[in-house]
Amino acid sequence: MHSPIPDYLLEVLDACGTDGGAVADYIPELAAADPDRFGICLATVDGTVYSAGNAETTFTIQSMSKPFAYGVALADQGHEAMAEKIDVEPSGEAFNEISLEPGTGRPKNAMINAGAILTHSLVAGDDGIQRTERLREMFSRCAGRELRIDESAFTSEFDTAHRNLGLAHMMKAVGILDCDPVEAVRGYSRQCSIEVTCRDLAMMAATLANAGVQPTTGEQILSRRSVRQMLSVMMTCGMYDAAGDWMTDVGIPAKSGVSGGVIGALPGQVGIAVFSPRLDSHGSSVRGVETFERLSTDMGMHMMEVAHEGRSALRDAFTTDGPDPVTVYQVQGDLRFTGAETVVRAISEAEHTTGRVVLDLTRAYRLNDVGQRMLLEVARRLGLDGIEVAMVDPDHALHGPHVEASGLEMFDHLDAAIAARADR
Ligand code: GLN
Repeated sequence: MHSPIPDYLLEVLDACGTDGGAVADYIPELAAADPDRFGICLATVDGTVYSAGNAETTFTIQSMSKPFAYGVALADQGHEAMAEKIDVEPSGEAFNEISLEPGTGRPKNAMINAGAILTHSLVAGDDGIQRTERLREMFSRCAGRELRIDESAFTSEFDTAHRNLGLAHMMKAVGILDCDPVEAVRGYSRQCSIEVTCRDLAMMAATLANAGVQPTTGEQILSRRSVRQMLSVMMTCGMYDAAGDWMTDVGIPAKSGVSGGVIGALPGQVGIAVFSPRLDSHGSSVRGVETFERLSTDMGMHMMEVAHEGRSALRDAFTTDGPDPVTVYQVQGDLRFTGAETVVRAISEAEHTTGRVVLDLTRAYRLNDVGQRMLLEVARRLGLDGIEVAMVDPDHALHGPHVEASGLEMFDHLDAAIAARADR
């Protein structure tokens, strides 16, 4: 059968093809872009890619490099050191606004140019070339292929970077930028000139949606903590002075660039990239914004539209037949607080007359730290009440030292966990 998803994407291309806006013309490489180009690409967290239109056209990454460079700087400097240099507040201003916090000189966030230039300077490396090489290499691993730099776009960008040089000199003057301001802007301009396609960007976004793990290679490229920070800043600051509109209408952490690309990463689900060069007054792709609005509405992707994880966490609860009955709780899915609460409540409220309880995690996909602690605590309390507890956990949904310390009986199969009782 032919999947309906590519057909749906073609429909979106048709429906969102407005001609409004204008191609960025401050450098010839951007001015030369074909304004009618239009591509969409979705990459799921399991690595499946769907695309429509010009998904393989190359263009420069521009400001879509900013969240990824922020992730690398967070890894190189640590979160605390980064917080001292760059704030995390939406600026409500245009991307190239000259605004630094009075007193500290910190840029408002890492998505506006001031913060992005400072971020670039905090990536490990002796000069702009080394820092960009580190970024190019990391972006390539996220994209799943070797990316190159558009040298002519870089030269044009740097030759006309007067405003960015102004920002960097100002940051040097207030003492927040340590390196040579010209070198910082040279490197930042190179970083913006890394060449990508919609498909590359969708894979990069999917790496964020997948908590830092590249969906096809399985490599953990960014830490979970860094990804959380990157997505938070994308959500609040990624769309500059349109961040509030974006949050209410689309509700997906995102970043746009003047080349006409927009990326979005929906945590746990999908990375999205759209490319079409004509820009609105905020410097974001007109069709890109329209497409994201449409995808979010059609596919229920707004982050504030929540799934009811709790209701489905307890798949089944039953008592086995026979002379030595056992009570079994079957847990399923991705368990966080609300899911674990449903399971904990069912167990706490039940009268356990069987003397043995089996918690079957065969279908539990992933338990976060809270989910694990809650299940272990329930097991401990059942034990205090004199009830035997066994866990069925073939895929090690429970892991770490606290699991071993619990001394729980562990099994790979439910049948074995039930039979263990009858054996005695
Ligand atoms: N290279 C561009 C600049 O710094 C990037 C801006 C953007 O994409 N919004 O001006």
